[in-house]
Amino acid sequence: MAEINCIFCKIIKGEIPCIKVYEDNKILAFLDINPINPGHTLIIPKKHSETILDTDKETLKNIMVITKKLSPVIINAIKADGFEVCINNKKAAGQIVPHLHMHIMPRFNNDGLKFDWGSKKYSNKEMTNIAEKIKRLL
Ligand code: AMP
Ligand code: ZN
Repeated sequence: MAEINCIFCKIIKGEIPCIKVYEDNKILAFLDINPINPGHTLIIPKKHSETILDTDKETLKNIMVITKKLSPVIINAIKADGFEVCINNKKAAGQIVPHLHMHIMPRFNNDGLKFDWGSKKYSNKEMTNIAEKIKRLL
């Protein structure tokens, strides 16, 4: 249920204001206060969880269904050229708010934003070893 010190749980309870764009009995969506572009939206489950790992499958499905519903509408509303969706899981991956949230981030041609994380090299042998390890652990 709601976590006492969670900022997004406080938004759900109405203790902190938000600019809401969608709500149903399981999901809330509101505009990000620090948007990468206008229309940047966060979709959150009303039931508190931190990452996709501690979120039940039904809730993950609801988040994805609402992402699919809202994305084209947001993009149409602000006449964006594209959009990114992402969930940051854990601090190392850029998660600041520890309540699961899907970002819908509108993008424009030549908006100057660079989501370029670069790339690392690894050998075929290392790749094969990692793939084998993942498959063994499945
Ligand atoms: P993340 O880095 O994935 O945890 O993203 C957290 C997002 O929440 C950031 O983009 C923040 O700008 C946004 N955020 C934090 N507090 C609020 C708030 N009170 N209302 C709307 N967005 C918020
Ligand atoms: Zn929460």
